[in-house]
Amino acid sequence: MSYDPNNIFAKILRGEIPCKKVYEDEFALAFNDINPKAPTHVLVIPKGPYVAYDDFITSANAEEIAGFARAVSKVAQSSGVAQTGYRLISNCGVNAHQEVSHYHVHVLGGKALGPMLVK
Ligand code: 5GP
Repeated sequence: MSYDPNNIFAKILRGEIPCKKVYEDEFALAFNDINPKAPTHVLVIPKGPYVAYDDFITSANAEEIAGFARAVSKVAQSSGVAQTGYRLISNCGVNAHQEVSHYHVHVLGGKALGPMLVK
């Protein structure tokens, strides 16, 4: 799948759509999910145009990958969930119900999250 520059997260990155920003650096932007599934639900997105995890990990350079991974950790620390526990989710493709085709990691926490998947 090729990257669609008009996806909603690309518009957020360009400042065309507002977001509740919680963190930003040269590699990543993090903002609150508009429809939170937990008391803390932050989306972390790379600044580059990557569709999903496999695209990111094969196309991004090592600096981008390391910078993004560190940004996820910084969000977990600064939002307070690193102390109590948290879950990272990245939905990739149709079976995972990926809604937005710009790679993103969900940082979820703030309560006991229960089992990883419901059968
Ligand atoms: P996915 O299913 O692609 O992993 O998750 C996409 C997430 O983006 C969903 O949790 C959804 O609530 C969130 N989302 C969709 N549109 C917007 C938006 O315009 N702003 C924000 N902050 N989150 C959005």
